[in-house]
Amino acid sequence: MAKKILIIGAGMAGLSAGIHACRNGYDVEIYEQHDLPGGLCTAWKRKGYTIDGCIHWLVGTRPGSQFNRLWREVCAIEDLEIIDHDIFMSIENRGGKVLHIYSDLDRLEEHLINHSPADELAIKSITGAARVVAKGSFPLEKPTELYKFWDVPLMLFSMMPMLKVMGRLSRVSIKEYLEQIEDPFLKEALSLVMPSGYSMISLISTLASLHSKDAGFPKGGSLVFARLLENRFFELGGKLNYQCGVEEILIEDNRAVGLLLKDGSKVYGDIIISAADLHSTIYGMLNSRYRTAKIDESFAHLPVYSSVQVSLGVNSELSGEAENVVVELDSPITLGHEHNRYLYLTNFSFDPTLAPAGKAVLRATLFSSYEHWAASADNKERYREKKEKLAELVISEVEKRFPAVKDQVEVVDVATPITYSRYTGVWKGSYMAWIVPPEVGRFKIPKELPGLNNFYQVGQWVEPPAGLPGSMLTGRHVIQIICSRDRKTFQI
Ligand SMILES: Cc1cc2nc3c(=O)[nH]c(=O)nc-3n(C[C@H](O)[C@H](O)[C@H](O)COP(=O)(O)OP(=O)(O)OC[C@H]3O[C@@H](n4cnc5c(N)ncnc54)[C@H](O)[C@@H]3O)c2cc1C
Repeated sequence: MAKKILIIGAGMAGLSAGIHACRNGYDVEIYEQHDLPGGLCTAWKRKGYTIDGCIHWLVGTRPGSQFNRLWREVCAIEDLEIIDHDIFMSIENRGGKVLHIYSDLDRLEEHLINHSPADELAIKSITGAARVVAKGSFPLEKPTELYKFWDVPLMLFSMMPMLKVMGRLSRVSIKEYLEQIEDPFLKEALSLVMPSGYSMISLISTLASLHSKDAGFPKGGSLVFARLLENRFFELGGKLNYQCGVEEILIEDNRAVGLLLKDGSKVYGDIIISAADLHSTIYGMLNSRYRTAKIDESFAHLPVYSSVQVSLGVNSELSGEAENVVVELDSPITLGHEHNRYLYLTNFSFDPTLAPAGKAVLRATLFSSYEHWAASADNKERYREKKEKLAELVISEVEKRFPAVKDQVEVVDVATPITYSRYTGVWKGSYMAWIVPPEVGRFKIPKELPGLNNFYQVGQWVEPPAGLPGSMLTGRHVIQIICSRDRKTFQI
C-alpha cells in the first residue's frame, strides 16, 4: 500500500510537494486553512477589480529556462500568456530626473552611462556580471541533502564561469556594493530596485532574469497562477482539504503520526510535511518541542521585510502611462521604523484581465514594519482609521503622478502586514522570509528537526529569500529526499 503523506498548507511549497509526491506514488492529502490555493501567491476581487497580492515578477517564465522546466513539472505554465516589460522600473526624483531600469542589459548599460559617465566602470561591472549570470545555470535539481562527495566538484565545475562573479557579489549587500557609485541619483535609483539589504547577487540575478525574459508577469496574476498548480495536483489524484486548519502535529515516541485539525478531528499518516509558516509550525503546531538554536536565533535576530499595499480601482484606462514607476515623495511616509522616501507604483493596465473594460488597477507599495499595524490591529476602528489615513495620503500622491486618477477612484484596498499574517499565518507579514546578511553566505534551515522522525518542513523560510520559485523548489526537494529514503527513483 502507498505511504500516506499529509501536507500542511497549499502555498507554492505545499502544492509542489503534493504534486511531486503524487507523481511518485504516494497517497497525498493537503490540509489548507483557507478555501483557496497559493498562500501568499494570491489575489482578491473588489467590485470587478482584481487586487493582486503577490507577483511582481516570476522567475521561470521563459520557455526552456531552468526554472521554466521546474515550473512545467508542477503546472501548465506554458498555457499562460507572459507579460514582459521593456522597462522594468522607472525611478523619478523630485528634481525631475528619471532613470529607467531597462530589462535589456545593453540598453540599461548605455542609459546608465549616459546618465553618469563617471560611473562607467561600476556600471559595466554590474551589467557584465548580470550577462555572465544570464548565460549560466545553477545546479538546482538535486537537493544538497542528497549530495555525494563527487557532487561538490561537479557542481563547482558546472558553475565555473559564474563562480568568480558569485563569490564577489554574494557576500556584499546591495547597499554596500553601491557605495562605489559616485552619482548620488544613480546610487539611490539602483538601491531602489529591490530591498538594499539583500546580497548584490540577488540584484544581479534579477537583472539577468529580466534580460533573458525569464522574469515576466503571468497574465491573470497570482491566483490564476496558483490555480495551475492546484489543477495539476488534482489531475494527479491528490486530495486537497480546504478550510481545514491544523492545530497541532500529533507525535508518538518522537515520530510525527498525524494532525489534530482545528475542528478537533484527527487524521493520521506515515509522513508529515509542514509547508505552513515556519514560526507557527515550530512554536505552535509542534509546541516548541523540537526547536533548534538556529531557528530560535534566526527568529530572534534576523530582520524581515514587510510591506503595505494600497490598491486603487480606477475608472480610467491608464494605458500608455508608465507601468512600474518609483516616485520620490515631497515628504516621507513613515510606517513604524520604515521611512518611505519613495512610493512604488504599479499601473496594471498591462494586464486588462485585472479590471473591467476601460478601467485599471493602480497599486502603491510602501515598506512598513509589522509592529506599526500590530499596535492597533486588535482595535477594529483604530486599525480601519489608520488604513484610511494612509490611503488618503497615497491617493493624493498618486494623483500628482497620474492626474487621470483624480476623482476616478472607485475602489480602495489596503493590505497591511497584518492582512498577510492573518491570511496565511506568515510571521510578521514577511514577504520573503528573513533577510539574511550577505556575509553569512548560504543559509538554510534543515528540512528535518533533530529528534523528530517522519517530519519535514519546507517553504520560503527553509531557504530564504526563496520567493515563488525557491519555495516551489523546496517542495520538490523534500519529495526527492523522501524517495531516496524509500529507495525509489524520483520520477518527474
Ligand atoms: C506582497 C508580496 C509580494 C511578493 N512578490 C513576489 C514576487 O514578485 N516574486 C516572487 O517570486 N515572490 C514574491 N513574493 C514571495 C512569495 O509569495 C513567497 O515567498 C511564497 O509564496 C512563499 O510560499 P510558501 O509556500 O513558502 O508559503 P505560503 O505562501 O505562506 O503558504 C503557506 C500556506 O500554509 C497555510 N497554512 C498556514 N498555517 C496553516 C495551518 N495551521 N493549517 C493549515 N494551513 C495552514 C497558509 O494558509 C498558506 O496557504 C511576494 C510575497 C508578498 C507577500
